[in-house]
This record gives sequence, C-alpha cells and structure tokens, in this order.
Amino acid sequence: MTLRLYDTAARAVREFTPLHPGKASLYLCGATVQAPPHIGHIRSGVDFDILVRWLRASHYQVTYCRNVTDIDDKILTVAMQEEVPWWAVAERNQRAFSRAYDALGCLPPDVEPRATGHVPEMITLMQRLIDSGHAYPSGGDVFFDVHSLPSYGCLSGQRLEHMRAAGDTEDASAKHDLRDFALWKRAKPGEPTWPTPWGPGRPGWHLECSAMSTKYLGATFDIHGGGLDLLFPHHENEQAQSHAAGDGFARYWLHNGLVRIGGEKMSKSLGNSLLIDQMLTQIRPVELRYYLGQAHYRSPIDYSPEALAESGAAYRRIEGFVTRAAELAGSELPGREAAARGTSSLPAAFTAAMDDDLGVPQALAIVHDTVRDGNAALAAGDTGGTAKSLGEVRTMLSVLGLDPLAPPWAAAESGGDLRPVVDALIGVALAQREAARARKDFAAADAIRDQLLGAGVLVEDTPRGPRWELRR
Ligand SMILES: [Zn+2]
Repeated sequence: MTLRLYDTAARAVREFTPLHPGKASLYLCGATVQAPPHIGHIRSGVDFDILVRWLRASHYQVTYCRNVTDIDDKILTVAMQEEVPWWAVAERNQRAFSRAYDALGCLPPDVEPRATGHVPEMITLMQRLIDSGHAYPSGGDVFFDVHSLPSYGCLSGQRLEHMRAAGDTEDASAKHDLRDFALWKRAKPGEPTWPTPWGPGRPGWHLECSAMSTKYLGATFDIHGGGLDLLFPHHENEQAQSHAAGDGFARYWLHNGLVRIGGEKMSKSLGNSLLIDQMLTQIRPVELRYYLGQAHYRSPIDYSPEALAESGAAYRRIEGFVTRAAELAGSELPGREAAARGTSSLPAAFTAAMDDDLGVPQALAIVHDTVRDGNAALAAGDTGGTAKSLGEVRTMLSVLGLDPLAPPWAAAESGGDLRPVVDALIGVALAQREAARARKDFAAADAIRDQLLGAGVLVEDTPRGPRWELRR
C-alpha cells in the first residue's frame, strides 16, 4: 500500500506520487515571530514532524523547508510599543520558537529561511509578474491583479465575486480592485525598507513564501503545509503568485486543524496561559508532544486541562511498559537496524494506518494494543514475548517521535552520568529495606520506602524484586 494524503486543492485523498521518485520536498509556513509560541502555533510543527518522520521511514529522501516570517505589521507594532528595533523582536521570538520545536522533539528542517534574507528573490518574482501582466506597481506599492488569473480562488474554493477587499493597504485608491493584494509595501516613516526598482519598501507576507519555497525546493515541489487558518488569503495568494509566474508550485496542499479553546481559535489573549515555555514548567515535553500529535492532523483539538491530563496518563502507560520491559529484555533496540529496514519492521496495521492520510489515532491504537500484549507477557515472565512487543512498540513510537528510550527523551530522563550513581545509592537503601523486612521490622521497611518517595523515588515490589523509578 502506498501513502495517501488529503489534498486541500483536490478536496480529496490522493495517492502520494512524488515529483522525483524516492524524494519528497516539503514547505511548511513557519512562525511569524511577533510573540513567543503557544500550543496553537507549535501543533503544525509537531504534525508535520510526524509527516517528515513517516516519509523518511517510508524511504523517501526528504527536503524539508520551514520559513520564518521576520518582517510583518505585527512585529513592527511590538517593536514600536517596546521601543526596541524590529529585528530584536524577531530574533527573540525566533529563539523562543526554536526552543519550543526542540523541546517537543521536532527534527530541525533542512533549511529555515528568513524573509528578510530573500528580498532579491522577491524582486525577481515581482518583475516576472509585472512583465507578464499579473502585477502592477502603484505609488511605491506593488499589487497582484486578481482579475489576471482566472483560477484565483480555486485553492480555497471561492469565487472572486464573493470575495471581500484584501484590506492590506491604507491607501485603497492605489489598487485597481480592492481585492488585489499587496506583494510589496511602500516605505513608511520609521519602518525598515529595502530598495526595489519600484521604490523602497518591505515585503508583503504572501510573496516571501513563493520566493523562498521555490528557491529551496524548485519551481514545482511536492507538499505545501500549514495551519488551516492560512488557507485564505495566505495560501491562495501564494499559489496565485507562483502559478501566474508560470511555476508549478505545490503538488499537494496539506492543512492541519487548529487548537481551539471553548470552540474558538486560540487568540493572543486566550493563548497566553498556553505558551509553550509556560506549559513546560508544568508538563513534561514528551507528554505535550503526545497530546498535540495524538489527534488526526486535520481534526481540531479542543484544549482542556482534563484532556491534556488524560493524554499524559495514556503516554505514561506506554512509557511504563517500555521501561519495565527494557529492564527485563534490554534496551538495545532494533534502533539502527530497524531504521534501515524502515516500515518492514512495523506491524502491518500501523503502516496501513499511517499510509491512510497519517492516521495517527488508529496507529496509536495499535501501539496501545501491543503494550497490552507486552504487559501480559511481562506479567507471565515471558522474556521472548516481552522483547517482541517492546521492539514493536519502540519502532512505532520512534516514527511518532515518542520513544522514551531514544533521544531527546532518554537523555532528559536519565540525568546523564548520574544515573548509575543514583541507582547504586537507591540500591543501598533498598537493601536496608529488604533487611528490615527479613527481620519483620515492617515499620522500618515502610519508613525507608516513604523516605525514598519523599525524595521522588517510587519503589514497586515485583516478582523479580523491588524496582524503582522517578515519580512523574
Ligand atoms: Zn507561507
């Protein structure tokens, strides 16, 4: 079976046939860095990280480009309010985004271009559009002529006559039609500018993504991703610019659902309490990744603390099995070997679920079923059965970026070089406890267990003797 993806442009699930066999190119609209990220921003990073991992597991050589919009009205507004340079606002928030992506285990993109580093490419694209009659300069602005492209509106499924004014300029008289959108914005006092043949100014938001995606991935590339809120006008306008210029542009359009609170899209005021930096003081990053990644990427996530807690508990059930099973069967993974074998080492039902438009909820159901089998094998002392389930669970989890024994999670949990030291110290305490129990001094034995618990060490008695883990 081959990978099938829901293509927004076709409004249908389509078989994924890459432009070049064995290769896949992906452009994801990344952050507009006017503020630090909340979970609504990072969800698309997690969803598309799962896509990249699945494409790689399926033996595609992936080129992944995720941009940074480092110049924008909102960035300029923040800079003005704080009386700091615009680039300092962009830099600070870009770091916060990078920190969040890293914390949640998103693999870095192959390239992360910034808009302001690609003005020459934007000028070239505008020149092509002006030369071919699809754009016009007007008083220092450059606008796209929406009437010049009969297919305008086809990506978001709208007809031009039903569209409203673009609302992206203060001087509407400069436009031929109010629905024409700005490719380039003329210089305004106090704003940064770059020189162009049509006067100094700064990039419009849509233009940069057309310029950067085609620079790094080619005039035609495989997949363009982003949040559903970007479909119109941003993606419609990106496609219009590139198609009008004669580029094939994206062959598949993928949109992730939004994170909502009380049925509403997260806004800045609603999202403030759900900033990633803030949330990671209260929840482990791997559990936040599980929460954001577990839903189907096209479904909305309605945030609630209860749902977050439930998903954390579900991940800990998986993790508990992996930790216990590794103690019995060893943590040597299938690691490199499994990666080399790709999807062939995965349960067929898991592969089928992932190939079906990234059916992560169904794929996770297979993980949980395998954990259940593994726990039964573990309880029966069946080392072979335990090892088999463990191998399958970890290989599936690694596709989802959730293997507790692999980086970055393993490093975070182990405490680096201190693990053997802690293990030996706790071993001393546990030996004392065993000695107390042997002489039937249960009060002393319980006191040792309680003291360990007070220090965050959870002791559990198993048929194979006591084991410990850090309380989560
Ligand atoms: Zn974009």
